Amino acid sequence: VRKALAATGSGPGRTADDVPVALLANIATVEDARRAGALDCEGVGLFRTEGLYLGRQSAPSLEEQEASYREVLGYFTGRKVVVRTLDAGADKPLAFVDHGDEENPALGLRGLRVSWKNPGLLQTQLEALGRAAAAVDTEVWVMAPMVATPSEATGFVEAARAAGLSVAGAMIEVPAAALRASRVLATVDFVSIGTNDLAQYTFAADRMQGELAGLLDPWQPALLDLIAAVGEAGSSRAVPVGVCGEAAGDPLLACVLVGLGVRSLSMAPGLVATVRLVLAAHSLAECRAMAEAARDADDATSARAAVRALVKESV
Ligand code: PEP
Ligand code: MG
Repeated sequence: VRKALAATGSGPGRTADDVPVALLANIATVEDARRAGALDCEGVGLFRTEGLYLGRQSAPSLEEQEASYREVLGYFTGRKVVVRTLDAGADKPLAFVDHGDEENPALGLRGLRVSWKNPGLLQTQLEALGRAAAAVDTEVWVMAPMVATPSEATGFVEAARAAGLSVAGAMIEVPAAALRASRVLATVDFVSIGTNDLAQYTFAADRMQGELAGLLDPWQPALLDLIAAVGEAGSSRAVPVGVCGEAAGDPLLACVLVGLGVRSLSMAPGLVATVRLVLAAHSLAECRAMAEAARDADDATSARAAVRALVKESV
């Protein structure tokens, strides 16, 4: 067993029975990209592009954006980078984006919705990214945050393709999109589940409010049910499903997610090695059993305990 673990201490992620599960890094800045690029990971599963805009009083020009994207993508030659378009608003306000006066910013004009009032912002970002992607040897996937309906997903995919970006998808972080996953998946090339916001909106619990942490626990069985619905839609439509919220970096929960049909996990770069090891010790059937045990629980604590009881002793 020790030998097997040593053999899986590096390289692409996979289960004990060799089902590939991409292990990717979450990044937000050019500096993050430089550091993550040097690590043993399969690329980036979430580039939070608002990191490039924070602290700025005006939007960067097309050329400036293109240069930043080229630099970030350059650290991942031969690998994949999933770029999320601007997710401004709520917990990520930007000085140059007018969100208006909002009583509930988390429920307001944030994420993709910013483009309703400022279509130019998204347009320029997609164009800059399209130009950068054409100039490098990095596989570029682009996705929109806060997609709620299939038609929003379609509109985004069309805009991305018009900018020369051939792989376009949506984040699933609004319960409506998870509930109608099959229809959203019919219009995109891939989806990535944002468990942080999906938990916030499923439990009506502000992610900025510490006292609500228990409701926001990614082991909550209701959250797992929604992820399962997306995983099932992904399998039946052959559309790749990933997770890029904090849940992906919890090694046991990572196994559960794989059991629910997730095939790529994006996390804080420092967590990749542990997730790789734990995943490599469990087969897909074992991950499925873990997922079933977790969903069979009534709360996050018992879900976690039920899965712990199924973990291989070697881990
Ligand atoms: C999420 O909501 O889970 C997510 C990955 O995006 P962010 O945390 O940037 O909102
Ligand atoms: Mg989010």
